[in-house]
Amino acid sequence: MDSTENERQSMDVDIACVGFGPAMGGFLTTLSRALAATNPEAAAALQSRAMPGMPPQVICYERADDMGFGVSGVVTRARGIRASFPDFDPAQIPMCTPVQSEKLVYLLDPNGASQRSLALRLADKMLRTCGLARLKAYEVPYCPAFLHKNDGLVMSLGQFNQWVGANVLASGAVQVWPSTPVAMPLIESDSKHVTGVRLADQGVDKQGNPDAGFMPGMDIRAALTVIGDGPVGPVGRQIDEQCGMPPGHAREEWAVGMKFVVDLREDVDLEPGTVFHTFGYPEPEIFGFFYVHPDRVASVGIFVPSWFDSPARTAYRYLQHYILHPYLWRYLEGGKLRSWGAKSLQESGKRGEPWLAGDGYARIGEGSGSTNVLTGSGVDEAWTTGVQLAEGVIELLQADKPFTKENLEAAYVSRRRASWVEKEGLIAEKSRDGFQKGVVTGMIGMALAGLTGGKLFAPGKPEPTHVRMRHARHYADRISSTEMDRLRADCKTRNVPFHDALMDRLGWPAVPMDGQLLVSHQDALLMGGKVQAAAGYADHVVFLEPKLCEKCGAKLCIDICSGQAITPGENGTPAFDREKCIHCGACIWNCTQELQDGSKRTNIEFRAGSGGLHSSEN
Ligand SMILES: Cc1cc2nc3c(=O)[nH]c(=O)nc-3n(C[C@H](O)[C@H](O)[C@H](O)COP(=O)(O)OP(=O)(O)OC[C@H]3O[C@@H](n4cnc5c(N)ncnc54)[C@H](O)[C@@H]3O)c2cc1C
Ligand code: SF4
Ligand code: SF4
Repeated sequence: MDSTENERQSMDVDIACVGFGPAMGGFLTTLSRALAATNPEAAAALQSRAMPGMPPQVICYERADDMGFGVSGVVTRARGIRASFPDFDPAQIPMCTPVQSEKLVYLLDPNGASQRSLALRLADKMLRTCGLARLKAYEVPYCPAFLHKNDGLVMSLGQFNQWVGANVLASGAVQVWPSTPVAMPLIESDSKHVTGVRLADQGVDKQGNPDAGFMPGMDIRAALTVIGDGPVGPVGRQIDEQCGMPPGHAREEWAVGMKFVVDLREDVDLEPGTVFHTFGYPEPEIFGFFYVHPDRVASVGIFVPSWFDSPARTAYRYLQHYILHPYLWRYLEGGKLRSWGAKSLQESGKRGEPWLAGDGYARIGEGSGSTNVLTGSGVDEAWTTGVQLAEGVIELLQADKPFTKENLEAAYVSRRRASWVEKEGLIAEKSRDGFQKGVVTGMIGMALAGLTGGKLFAPGKPEPTHVRMRHARHYADRISSTEMDRLRADCKTRNVPFHDALMDRLGWPAVPMDGQLLVSHQDALLMGGKVQAAAGYADHVVFLEPKLCEKCGAKLCIDICSGQAITPGENGTPAFDREKCIHCGACIWNCTQELQDGSKRTNIEFRAGSGGLHSSEN
């Protein structure tokens, strides 16, 4: 045992929870109500095993600096959320309102710069010729049932989570600790039994070496560890690395979602609850959304998917072009940026489902494969998996049964399998495979799956970004490979990211900065929702093999970075600046180099870290 281990404190609790997203909101809401409502006779059965005589000790650790800072969304049908709150009143939560109207809008390209297939160019021409493309957009007369959220809510997930957090804390039955990243699960190497978690060390330098004020992260020993750390959470990923994934399951489809929260001009009279789902622009692969909250505030954003075969991977610049589209700009012009954010989405859905339970642990939320890519819905699904686990946990506590894999499967996994989350997840499972072959095939596949309950779909083999990038022929019809190489070499010499030069060359116009809504990426980092990094933590983005970076031509990690936290560095290895990282996790699945150790991991490791965006409006 080294001196660090001697100093490391430990604490026993009954249930340790990782991450406070909607999944954990559902879990803690249901559990805390049951614990608070326990009558004196039943209370004896629900006593803490860690602290006899006390009620069960339940502690949740959240990485971000507040309970609503690490999340994003949302328009949601809120079926699970409403079931938890039958008297739910949207007026209780800032930025929340019922959906009033919903449109599916196809956006044509007003600049002629996007990469459109022949089929799309023909469709655009037909819409223009028939006079159907008003404001360079076509309002599809029908919003498919699988997509619609007409009975749902527009809300800010950050505000919702703060409201949920206040309620669970008020119950007195559970604790939630923000600003507390969990570094790793504690796993017994032979049995794979999870016995709790280790919190991140503090008072260390960037490499994690003890520094002034060194405090080793505490070990939290628990009978049950609940992992709800979202799509890129390091605790869930470490469990996957040690326990493996179920046969045939993999996480190969991703997207990064970026959004702006905007104060609209005073004369914009869009009704709160207005929802636009868009497709077609800024690139055909990039879907977008525009939601109106109360008090003339809107959320506007895009999703850049892993199957977008382009090195021009900048969600920030694409989002600026998106809001400048005439269909949206008529509402957004004169608006002011309040805050912004970005986050990865795990789009493999059921196919990315890990083992949902094992000895001593259970997985909930997006990291457990709950997000439904067909319906574009993750929040309600995540919430519901949390509720299902809590119901199972209460059952096991009351029966005084231990949290073994077998018991958790009977009490939690079986509830999940019997629910709408599972049924809809199965319908969605292959619904987007067609996008691997192109946008038109993808749209047809989605429609087929949605209309036939998943029986029909367009086939396609999902591939992770680093594999797709090997054989993708980027803009081959518009730029010769020689010119592409020259552009890249020039960017390398000037030490600047490649995407801007490429987009300029492809004909994307300069963004007319107005200092209010259209601001530089750097300025956005400092505006509402600015980024902060707590001192004394190690860097959480690590380039594992500098040699791989040196020989990496694409360096997509720089282009995708949502916070300009990864920049060209010395000797070919990028530099990472924690002060700008918003913890979106996109760098992990955009690294183009695979490690040579057979693990199928890429060259970036995303560890537990604190800080990030300070905004609860996302
Ligand atoms: C731009 C954007 C728009 C979206 N729009 C919609 C929408 O309209 N409708 C919809 O239904 N879904 C939407 N989603 C998806 C939705 O946000 C997710 O499906 C949902 O938030 C998943 O919930 P979760 O609780 O599983 O995980 P998360 O919300 O990701 O929460 C995980 C939490 O764990 C914390 N955490 C991570 N690692 C650690 C650690 N090591 N230690 C402690 N804490 C940790 C994180 O900080 C975070 O707070 C959108 C996503 C994005 C990015
Ligand atoms: S981290 Fe990955 S994508 Fe970035 S430079 Fe290194 S090898 Fe290339
Ligand atoms: S460095 Fe941070 S902001 Fe940049 S892509 Fe990675 S997680 Fe996102």
